[in-house]
Amino acid sequence: MQSVCGVERADLNSAYVRAAVAALYPASNSRTTLETEGGREAPCRDPEDPMPGFIDMAIVEARAAAGRGEVPVGAVVVRDGAVIATAGNRTLELKDPTAHAEMLAIRAAAAAIGSERLVGCDLYVSLEPCAMCAGAISFARLRRLYYGAADEKGGAVEHNVRFFSSIGCHHAPEVYSGLAESEAGQLLRDFFADRR
Ligand SMILES: [Zn+2]
Repeated sequence: MQSVCGVERADLNSAYVRAAVAALYPASNSRTTLETEGGREAPCRDPEDPMPGFIDMAIVEARAAAGRGEVPVGAVVVRDGAVIATAGNRTLELKDPTAHAEMLAIRAAAAAIGSERLVGCDLYVSLEPCAMCAGAISFARLRRLYYGAADEKGGAVEHNVRFFSSIGCHHAPEVYSGLAESEAGQLLRDFFADRR
């Protein structure tokens, strides 16, 4: 487990991720800085609003996963407008069936903040989470889940077991779906079309 977190923490600091962050957030990825940028107050973002840049970062991670031959899914954990962890699928690389993007991002975020509960944190993921990841999202006490494409076959949020509305679920995040849906879905369709 330790090595998994190590991989993801290293990723967070990699030139690739830094370049992606710089491209998405030319000024800053911190809301505090955004509000005081240029010495005057920038319009304050409603904290209830999803930040489109974070789902784009999840898609950057998904694309990188496809480049490694992995199923293209990416995830980003955010707290107070700052990125805590990013990850893409690495099940093949790590030979670990649990190494879904969400699991790796949650592990890395928990390691980064030194707590098994990601209170006040939000997860952005390019695809509707599966049952395993929905369980992890609940155990991590994530505040909000924002995701891109729906997954009729393997999704467990609005499809199949609908984990967050099941009796055994003791914490459900607020859920927002359909962010950058067409881009996230197209990545998966392209990936599986290439494999046929
Ligand atoms: Zn999953």
